[in-house]
Amino acid sequence: MGERGSGKAKGRDGDRVVSRRALIVGGAATAVGVGLLARGDLARMWWQVPGIDKPRKPGEVDFKGAEWVAAAAANWRRADRPADYTIDRVVIHVTQGSYQGTLRVFKDPWHGAAAHYVVRKDGHIAQMIRELDVAFHAGNRDYNQRSVGIEHEGFVDRPQDFTDAMYEASARLTAGICRRYGIPVDREHIVGHVEVPGTDHTDPGPHWDWKRYMRLVWAAHERAGAAKA
Ligand SMILES: [Zn+2]
Repeated sequence: MGERGSGKAKGRDGDRVVSRRALIVGGAATAVGVGLLARGDLARMWWQVPGIDKPRKPGEVDFKGAEWVAAAAANWRRADRPADYTIDRVVIHVTQGSYQGTLRVFKDPWHGAAAHYVVRKDGHIAQMIRELDVAFHAGNRDYNQRSVGIEHEGFVDRPQDFTDAMYEASARLTAGICRRYGIPVDREHIVGHVEVPGTDHTDPGPHWDWKRYMRLVWAAHERAGAAKA
């Protein structure tokens, strides 16, 4: 975050020098110069200006390999994250039902809730809400605004539901989210629904192997970093 902030300030100072030079030219040239500057500023900053809709293509996903399955619009709120809300949490859920059943209720406008992602037992991932937007998954307005929600197919009292493929796929997904928004890979920032203040939900439950999951997230996070470097 700090790095991004300082980079932004430097860019703006550079622009100011240009604009002063444009002013010296005077007259019509000044107006043109300022106009170009403003447009250039906008083009560079669009992703962090709240209230400006980022370009969205139908079917576009934030996690490569995820399948886009749109949730009903009533189950989320359009936003412009991370410009309007900082994303600093990932919330882990368990569906208490099948993958298909979960997709069905998230597509139902009367359900009133949905998560960004649903991970199937075989590791397949559906994205149902863009990370830009606020999904109603945590039952807590503050946490909804600051988090990305991931559902996992299964039941909290059935440890056999949490397969290797599911842990692996979910860990890659969470690692990518942490990379995109600079979220630290730790249990303060990657939490269970049960840990959201005020919740009466117990998921992901006692059989979710946090130690294993965090190790996988960390490894995937490191791999992604190495690939980028
Ligand atoms: Zn939950």
